[in-house]
Amino acid sequence: MIHIILFGPPGCGKGTQAKIISNKFGLIHLSTGMIFRDHMKRKTNLGKIASFYINKGILVPDMITTNMLNIEIQKHFKAKGIIYDGYPRTKNQIFSLEKILTKFCLGKINIIFYFFIQKNMIINRLLKRGKISHRDDDTDIITVKRRIKEYDKETSLIWNNHKWENSIIKLNASFSVEKISVFIEEKIMNLLYSN
Ligand code: AMP
Repeated sequence: MIHIILFGPPGCGKGTQAKIISNKFGLIHLSTGMIFRDHMKRKTNLGKIASFYINKGILVPDMITTNMLNIEIQKHFKAKGIIYDGYPRTKNQIFSLEKILTKFCLGKINIIFYFFIQKNMIINRLLKRGKISHRDDDTDIITVKRRIKEYDKETSLIWNNHKWENSIIKLNASFSVEKISVFIEEKIMNLLYSN
């Protein structure tokens, strides 16, 4: 089973690429943000707790997020692979993911696609997206800026360990959706053929 991480700031295009790539290769798309929003819509306990953090533009605590993700992963033991969109966002989340993959002999983190992009571009993208999706955390400029700050502070450096050096592939997120997906597809094909 292969495990592919799409990593980068909010609004960098991870979700769009995750959708394209998961369809193309028949992989499971796991977006923690989407799962949280689904819980919020259904007004579950988890949804109520998560909304407190999400509406502030800060990370949901690790315990809550890792528990939720571990439950999701256990639904997909038979899958060819998983694309993670918006997870992990802390070092603890990396450890937790490695732990569950080891525990159930599901393979390892194969590739981390690291999207980089200028800050002013993502702010514009998020505000534009908010108008269409009506996501509260995308429409309010203060929340948008806090999410970007949260990314810089809590998330951006989590792969800073020589262990991941050979797994990280950097990509310029200001390129077109198509150009980026072709690039990612090539790398995944190489991975599938070498396995
Ligand atoms: P996203 O849809 O990935 O932009 O996530 C929306 C919001 O959900 C984030 O701003 C966080 O509050 C929360 N969230 C999503 N994924 C995670 C995660 N891996 N760890 C903590 N909070 C998360």
